[in-house]
Amino acid sequence: MLQICREKQVQLSRQYQQQTLAHAIILQGIAGAGKDALAKWLIDLLICQQPLSSSDSADDGSISRACEQCKACLLRKSNSYPDHLLLTSENKTLGVDDVRRGNAFLEKTAHLGRLKTILIPQAQTMTIAAANALLKTLEEPSANSYIVLITDDIECLLPTIISRCAIYAIRPMVGEALLAQLTTSLHGNSQIANGSSINGKINANAFVNLSQLPELTDEDVFQAFQAFNQCFLDYLNHGQSEATLLNQLVDNKHGLRWLEKITCNLVRQYYLFNSSDNDPEQPTQIVNQKISVQVLNQIYQAIISSNKLIKSYTQANRQFVAEQLLMTINDIVRPST
Ligand SMILES: [Zn+2]
Repeated sequence: MLQICREKQVQLSRQYQQQTLAHAIILQGIAGAGKDALAKWLIDLLICQQPLSSSDSADDGSISRACEQCKACLLRKSNSYPDHLLLTSENKTLGVDDVRRGNAFLEKTAHLGRLKTILIPQAQTMTIAAANALLKTLEEPSANSYIVLITDDIECLLPTIISRCAIYAIRPMVGEALLAQLTTSLHGNSQIANGSSINGKINANAFVNLSQLPELTDEDVFQAFQAFNQCFLDYLNHGQSEATLLNQLVDNKHGLRWLEKITCNLVRQYYLFNSSDNDPEQPTQIVNQKISVQVLNQIYQAIISSNKLIKSYTQANRQFVAEQLLMTINDIVRPST
């Protein structure tokens, strides 16, 4: 099962129940953060005619869900629900004609009489003209329509679009939140009764929402990722491989995202391994013990900041940001040197 950011589900459910949900919504976050799964859940919910609410754990609020049985849900399951539009393009960019198709769709009356939904999965690929066409619709939102935009690069959206949407930043869960989610899903999950190793299950589930990435589908990219991973670990543990790492960060388009992903996984591993007190097999120590989880978290924050910066920069400045980032990481890991 795909992990969905539970915190955002609770937040969106509350807004849905209180009928304060914005009519234009941006779900943003790095690739693999779980945006698609969250968007699917939300649109299923909006479409459903008899949604359910469950509050399975005591105090963190209830999550609403589609019933999966009403007419609308059944039509949606068979891909023939008429009042939802998935706005994609076969080209690299989403053009003005695509957005006009969406606007025309919204102007027609809903077939099932309730509301209309549009999902734009690659919102950052909109051309300026397309974005301006969408802007008109966003400026005059109709009461019975919802537009959900997904993007892994919010800096590529026009500020005028961003300002008219409610923004939900989705990150892969780390630390306490991840642990809480795993504990909940382990105790409340019948799958665990089949006798397979609990540890294996934790690890398999923990990383599933990071799986939709090129390094996992392309052998060459995978090799490059492995090499990059090793460089970064050498740098963290021993201060080695700095030049190689810098080159990769500047020249490899995946470099900064990989850095974010690896650090995120290191933080996750820290919590996962330390959560199993009576684990007979001691896991291999990936980063040395001087690097605490606080240090890893600081590095993670520094990488996220640089990632944000670099998207708005040209190639020349990429070098500068990468150099600054490595210096920052070095200062965090080895404050005395
Ligand atoms: Zn339903």
